[in-house]
Amino acid sequence: MSETGTNTNDNVESEAVSRNFIEQIIDKDLAEGTYDTVVTRFPPEPNGYLHIGHAKSILLNYGLAQQYHGKFNMRFDDTNPTKEKEEFVESIKADIEWLGADWEDRLFFASDYFDQMYEVAVKLIKKGKAYVSDLSADEIREYRGTLTEAGKEDPYNTRSIEENLKLFEEMKAGKYADGEKVLRARIDMASPNMNMRDPVIYRVAHMSHHRTGGKWCIYPMYDFAHPIEDAIEGVTHSICTLEFEDHRPLYDWVVREAEFPHPPKQIEFAKLYLTNVVTGKRYIKKLVEDGIVDGWDDPRLVSIAALKRRGFTPESIKKFVELCGVSKANSSTDYAMLEYCIREDLKLKKPRMMAALDPIKLVIDNYPEDKTEYLEIPNNLENEALGTRQVPFCRELYIDRDDFMENPPKKYFRLFPGNEVRLMSAYFVKCVSFEKDENGKVTTVHCTYDPETKQGSGFNARKVKGTIHWVPAPYALKAEVRLYENIIDEEKGVYNEDGSLNLNPNSLTVLKDCRMEPALKDAKPYDSFQFVRQGFFNVDSRDSKQDALVFNRIVSLKSSFVLPK
Ligand code: ATP
Ligand code: MG
Repeated sequence: MSETGTNTNDNVESEAVSRNFIEQIIDKDLAEGTYDTVVTRFPPEPNGYLHIGHAKSILLNYGLAQQYHGKFNMRFDDTNPTKEKEEFVESIKADIEWLGADWEDRLFFASDYFDQMYEVAVKLIKKGKAYVSDLSADEIREYRGTLTEAGKEDPYNTRSIEENLKLFEEMKAGKYADGEKVLRARIDMASPNMNMRDPVIYRVAHMSHHRTGGKWCIYPMYDFAHPIEDAIEGVTHSICTLEFEDHRPLYDWVVREAEFPHPPKQIEFAKLYLTNVVTGKRYIKKLVEDGIVDGWDDPRLVSIAALKRRGFTPESIKKFVELCGVSKANSSTDYAMLEYCIREDLKLKKPRMMAALDPIKLVIDNYPEDKTEYLEIPNNLENEALGTRQVPFCRELYIDRDDFMENPPKKYFRLFPGNEVRLMSAYFVKCVSFEKDENGKVTTVHCTYDPETKQGSGFNARKVKGTIHWVPAPYALKAEVRLYENIIDEEKGVYNEDGSLNLNPNSLTVLKDCRMEPALKDAKPYDSFQFVRQGFFNVDSRDSKQDALVFNRIVSLKSSFVLPK
C-alpha cells in the first residue's frame, strides 16, 4: 500500500503537480485582479447535525482560506424559521471546532442581515426589478411553465413601483396572511432556466424566529438571501454543491442588481457520498426518532458527532477528505477508505495493549501459584517514543477463545493440544490439556511454560509459529466492548420493498465480559488504543465509567482496501 498514492481526482498530495479546479479558478482571479484576497465561508442551516459530507465542505473552505492567507467565515444560514433550532447551533459549532476549522471572530448569522435584505428588496422594487404578486403558490407553479414551455406573465406584474412599495411595506407590517402575497424578482418568464422565471424572493410567514423572535413576518427565500449574505460579508468564492449550478445565474443576478461593489462568485463541486452509510438528514432523524440508534452521535452513524464518539480523529477525516479530492462529477467513495485513514492515523500514535474480547482461562500448570513477575513491554514496537509499560505475569491468564481449538484445521498455528505458542512479550507455552463446561464449551486451557524462553532473555532455540496475546487474570479489568458494522446492509440495498430502511441486524454487537490488561484502568473518554491483533478501540464518551469501562471498536486491523492510484 502506497503512502503517497493519489486518486483520480486532483488532491492535496499532488498539489505540486496539479491544482484542483477550484484552486485554478482562485489562482486566475488573483492573477487577473478580480479579487485581491480570498474569503470563504461555511453556511450550514441549523436544522440538524453535521455529517462527513459537511466535513468535506468545512475543510475545503477553511483549507482554501488558509492556503491563500485569506479569511474563513462561519455563518449560520438561519433564514428559514420553520426548521431551525438553537440546539443545532451549538452542536454545529462544537463539531467545526473539533475539526480544527477556526473561524476566529468571524461568526455570523444570516438573520442579522434581515434589515439589509429588506433594503435590497426595496431597491429592486424601485429599480422596477421586483413586484408584489397575489398569486397563490399553486398558481405561481402553474404560470411558471415547464422545461419545454415558456412561463406566462404574472397578472400582477403591471403594478406600479409606488404600489409595489406600499404593498411590500404592508407585507412587512403584517397586514397579510401567510401565502396571501409574495415579492417576485422581475427577470424573464421565458428563460430556459426555470430558476430565472420571476422567482419568489420574499414570502409572508407569521412565525417566530429563533434569533429575531417576532420582529419579522416576512422572510427572504434562499436564492435571494444567500448571495446577499455572501456579499455583505465580503466573501469572494462562495463554494456550494452541484445542485446549485442552475441557480448560479440567479445568484449573479441578485448581486448585480443589488449593486454590491465586490460581488462574490459561486463555484459548485460534487457532494461527498459514502457507500452504505446514511447521510440524509431525514433518514438519520428517523433512525434517531425510532430509537434504532441511541442518538445523533450513535457510533454507527457518520455524523461528525458520531465519528468523534466512535474514535475517528480530525486528522483522519482531513486525510480522507484530501484523498477524496475535489471534483465536478458525482461519485461515491468507499467507506473502507475512511477506515484506511483512521488506521493510518492511529497506527504509530496509539499504545498497543492486550485484551481478550471473548476470554477463556489459560492456566500455566508449572508456574508458581503465588508468584507475579512484571514484564516490561514496549507500548508500540513501531514507535519507541511511546515508551514501555510493566505488565504483571502470573499463573492464570485470559486468552481469546479463538486462539484455542480442540481440533484445529491445517495451518492453525495457535493453541491446540500438544502445540506450543509464544505468549506475546512473555514465554513459550505448550498446551497439555483443557476443560469444558456441561455445554461442551471450552472454559480453561492448561499449559506448561518454558522459563528459558522469557522475552528478552536472548534464548530462542526453538521456533514457534503462533503468537497470541494474553491478560493476567487476577489483575484483569472487566470491560464492555461494542463492535460495529454498517447499519445499512451492503448486499441487500438500502431500502426494503415497503420503503423502510433495510437495517443490518449485526450493526451492533455488545461483548459484556471482556478482560483487559490493568494499564487501561485510567483510560478516559475518547482515549484510544490498539488492542493487538484486533483493532483500534476508544473509550465511549457517553456510557463508560471509571470502574465499568466501555470501548467502541473504531476499526479492525484487517483491510482489503487499496489506496486508489
Ligand atoms: P439540507 O439542505 O437538506 O438541510 P444540507 O446537507 O445541504 O441539507 P446545509 O446546512 O444546507 O445542509 O449544508 C451546509 C453546507 O454543506 C452547504 O454548503 C452544502 O453544500 C454542504 N454540504 C452538504 N452536504 C454535503 C456533502 N455530502 N458533501 C459536500 N458538501 C456538502
Ligand atoms: Mg442545504
